[in-house]
Amino acid sequence: MAKSVAKPAETIGEENNNASNVVTTNETVEIQAPAEHVKDETEISIEKKLIALYTLQQNDSKIDRIKIVRGELPLEVEDLEDEVAGLETRIDNYIQEIEMLDKQIADKQLAIKESQGLIKRYEEQQNNVRNNREYDALTKEVEFQNLEIQLAEKRIREFSAQLTMAKEEIENAQHELSDRRNDMEAKRSELTDIVAETELEEKELNNKSEQQQRLIEERLLIAYKRIRKNARNGLAVVPVERDACGGCFSYIPPQRQLDIKLHKKIIVCEFCGRILVDKELADSLS
Ligand SMILES: [Zn+2]
Repeated sequence: MAKSVAKPAETIGEENNNASNVVTTNETVEIQAPAEHVKDETEISIEKKLIALYTLQQNDSKIDRIKIVRGELPLEVEDLEDEVAGLETRIDNYIQEIEMLDKQIADKQLAIKESQGLIKRYEEQQNNVRNNREYDALTKEVEFQNLEIQLAEKRIREFSAQLTMAKEEIENAQHELSDRRNDMEAKRSELTDIVAETELEEKELNNKSEQQQRLIEERLLIAYKRIRKNARNGLAVVPVERDACGGCFSYIPPQRQLDIKLHKKIIVCEFCGRILVDKELADSLS
């Protein structure tokens, strides 16, 4: 029986190896008892650090939850704003194109009128020619103006086709724009509501986190932030729960669990790197 009582001392004394086990069984029991009840300075200091870290973690997790509720909304609103701006630019471009085409069509119509005027004049002049050469020259001029008219008419048909297309595009873009605008307004008001609901709480939590961070030494804080950034769920400090890491759920052997409970040093999960605290400490802060 005496040997089994001594067993825990072996595991506790891991750091100073088996030196303490050389002493007799009775003495080992005596040494073991205070080790469990009276905390030395290292233990108190480590315990304070763990408490500060776990408190910070709990606070930061609350902020994370608010952000999850807000979710992708800020990004969605931004995307919709970009889309709306893009469609407005597209519509502006079509408007300019339509104006340009209208002007080009008007120019060609004017050119046709001028040609028709010239043809009329040449045909009148043909009635007063002195010889065939003058008559033929005027006929050539008339033919040339007729060709000009045909060319202008061809251009007008091309411009008109472009105009029809641009007008269709503008109509489509306007439909899309009004849809996107509605989406944007809906998402915006959704976001405004959520922000209004959580703004004050988030501000308070951020203040608390800042205060809490001041209690933690820089080296630890940097580690905390690094682990938190890499962890999918934002958890850098987790309790041991049901013999497993509360972050990655990997099994933690009893010896390691005991080390964690002792608060002699800060222990991280060997699988996920998260800082581990014992359930008792975690429960006392929850
Ligand atoms: Zn883990």
